Amino acid sequence: MPVTISLTEKTTYYLTLEEKYGAHNYHPIPVVLNRGKGVFVWDVDDKRYYDFLSGYSAVNQGHCHPRIINALLSQAQQLTLTSRAFHNNILGAYEQFITQYFGYDKVLPMNTGVEAVETALKLCRRWGYRVKGIPENKVKIIVCANNFHGRTLSVISFSSDPSSAKQFGPFTPGFEIIPYNNVAALATALEDKNVAGFLVEPIQGEAGVVIPDEGYLKKTKQLCEENNVLFIADEIQTGLCRTGKLLCCDHEDVKPDILLLGKALSGGTLPVSAVLANNDIMLTIQPGEHGSTYGGNPLACSVAIAALSVLKEERMAENADEMGTLLRSELKKINSPHIHTIRGRGLLNAIVIQHTHTDAAWQLCLELKENGLLAKPTHGDKIRFAPPLIITAAQIKECAGIIAKSIAAAF
Ligand code: PLP
Repeated sequence: MPVTISLTEKTTYYLTLEEKYGAHNYHPIPVVLNRGKGVFVWDVDDKRYYDFLSGYSAVNQGHCHPRIINALLSQAQQLTLTSRAFHNNILGAYEQFITQYFGYDKVLPMNTGVEAVETALKLCRRWGYRVKGIPENKVKIIVCANNFHGRTLSVISFSSDPSSAKQFGPFTPGFEIIPYNNVAALATALEDKNVAGFLVEPIQGEAGVVIPDEGYLKKTKQLCEENNVLFIADEIQTGLCRTGKLLCCDHEDVKPDILLLGKALSGGTLPVSAVLANNDIMLTIQPGEHGSTYGGNPLACSVAIAALSVLKEERMAENADEMGTLLRSELKKINSPHIHTIRGRGLLNAIVIQHTHTDAAWQLCLELKENGLLAKPTHGDKIRFAPPLIITAAQIKECAGIIAKSIAAAF
């Protein structure tokens, strides 16, 4: 350590462009990609890599899935955007499809994940006033420490991560942060009768794949029911087969009152997110009270139908479950003192690196890149391993070999 990496002239050219003309709000692994297919991506020098991030789980179906790309291309030649000032012939069919797929009365289509979260917060507040009868401006929503729900001002207002929130204040009030995976803390918070909702990630992805104790989702949902509080599941990263079930909440047979989806809802082609809820919640918002120019556009709707169809028809939940079990057992065989923890569910996995060097996880990711596998550290010492859900057993074994070799080389 530090790992020496070779940057070609071409790669350096693209890195320099971004450095000079782009905002410095990301710190990417120094690789420049120009092609993707299935579990693989290629860089500008035609070197092939396994993608072990999958666009933060937006590419669950694999890069450029032919059926999703076909839906994108054929709809793009027909009609792409009407705005919601007019109807389009795809929106209703998509709304019927996705509500039946997940078992809710209604959907509210948005674009990015954080917009779905913002929409849910507004819906929850509105429901709190209209249905629960909380006095005006008093609604409170409970959230968890170490959450990640996106980057807007209201959403970072309840982040406990200083790098997300520091010097971006003043913040939106009306949120209370409780510890994650702590049922008693929720019970105490719910003593306040002005609480309208509990927003939770079924597994905390960005925090480093933090999996709550078995029963946490079921018990917290039950507490919400007992206290007439909405259980809002942010499944933007955990949903759509990533953890080995269609939704991560399915592991505990929990049906959220408000379900948030994004990322893989378009298989990595364009920003498509969705908020699902039943009529008593969804119909508290009336025309003119919420919306988005691109939300529900026919291109997004066509792509989302294809993206959801292939997840089911190609049994991606089942494959994620089986391949995740295989990946963790292969990782356990590596037996390095520098792998402190291996955890995960389905194909949402992480290892925690133990090393005297504080940037050891970053260095390992550079070495992985040299050896043909792309992953990115999260919160310093954790590396997420989340390949597309179409990965095969032989590929998982090959990747475990790359990881073992990289650990030996980096440390
Ligand atoms: N919620 C969760 C759980 C996420 O992981 C993310 C993104 O990583 C978001 C919300 C925000 O999604 P987006 O980046 O599309 O706004």
